[in-house]
Amino acid sequence: MRRMIEHVDEEYIVSIASRLVRINSENPPGREAEVASFLAERLSELGLKAKVDAFDRRANCIASTKDFERAGLLLLTHLDTVPAGEREAWSIPPFGGIIRDGRLYGRGAADAKGCIASMLGALKALADSGVEFGGEGLVLAAVADEEMGSQGVRRLISRGFRADYAVVGEPTGLRVCVAHKGRLVTTVKFTGRYAHSSRPELGINALYAASEFALEIEEYSKRIKGKDHPLLGPPAISATMFKAGEKDNMVPGWAEVVVDYRALPGERLETILDEFKHIAGKVDRGRGTRHETIVLRWVPPSEVDPGSRIVEVAAEAVRRVLNHEPEISGFQATCDMSYLVNDAGVPSIILGPGDLEQAHMADEWVSIAELVAAAKIYALIIHGILCAS
Ligand SMILES: [Zn+2]
Repeated sequence: MRRMIEHVDEEYIVSIASRLVRINSENPPGREAEVASFLAERLSELGLKAKVDAFDRRANCIASTKDFERAGLLLLTHLDTVPAGEREAWSIPPFGGIIRDGRLYGRGAADAKGCIASMLGALKALADSGVEFGGEGLVLAAVADEEMGSQGVRRLISRGFRADYAVVGEPTGLRVCVAHKGRLVTTVKFTGRYAHSSRPELGINALYAASEFALEIEEYSKRIKGKDHPLLGPPAISATMFKAGEKDNMVPGWAEVVVDYRALPGERLETILDEFKHIAGKVDRGRGTRHETIVLRWVPPSEVDPGSRIVEVAAEAVRRVLNHEPEISGFQATCDMSYLVNDAGVPSIILGPGDLEQAHMADEWVSIAELVAAAKIYALIIHGILCAS
């Protein structure tokens, strides 16, 4: 039986991946409706119950072998892509779905339409082999808005969806990722006092305070290299944006710095913010400014116990398909696994064809061989979790 479910249909997988790339689902603006309907039709053809869950001009596509609200195994991935950006940067059309030299090119080929196609390839192989899904069944959810605010997965979870295990489809180069970094985006705003720039001694220059703060963040970025996660390495911090001043002859009364922090599992929002406030407070005391910190975005990090069944089953699947010891690894970016683990308590891994380095750039591509291998791996994971007793 196992050998049969590894008979994936390469032509089908490549055709689905190429057709998915040809449907533009750039986010922003967030246009998932068309690709969601296309996918729901394909999933129905494979014998699953499939629906498009439309909300606020966005759409999730959800398919199930049993219930929509509960699953023994969830395959989660996303419909949206980052924008293609400047067309001149591309040497091939971003929405052409072009296949050349063993690669599929186009926006979303790696992140994450290749994952969707491989998941469908796995479901087709299982359907073709006539395997029966046991237990709580399978749900495939291809959700909206992973690249911006993760509205899609948050909607799924807030409506009560639960699963025993999940595989999150993101480009990991077929590595089994059991942890990912979190992301905090904060604005730190300094308030000083305006003055005419002919009399700067009457003002408090907030731009100087914010500059000092930005340089202190650079120093802090060196100190945090001491923290270390076995799979993810140290956290990362950068000052990424700076705003100050209204007129060229005024001492600026305010200035703000945006800080982007990539957090390790175990790091808490409050603790990270405390450190920023400590650094900003020192600047205030030296310069007479006041500061406030505004959290723009917080996606908590997450990790799963490497001894969890989902990790064992995935590792065994990778070993069987790739014929070498699986690499258990960490995912440097944030992804929707955060919400599954932190908000719904679902033990999850991240695994998919393509590499993060190929994503989010011009001439994005994914290797056809990896699409095919991923489909076999997904099929074995589904079989291992749901069908093997
Ligand atoms: Zn992605």
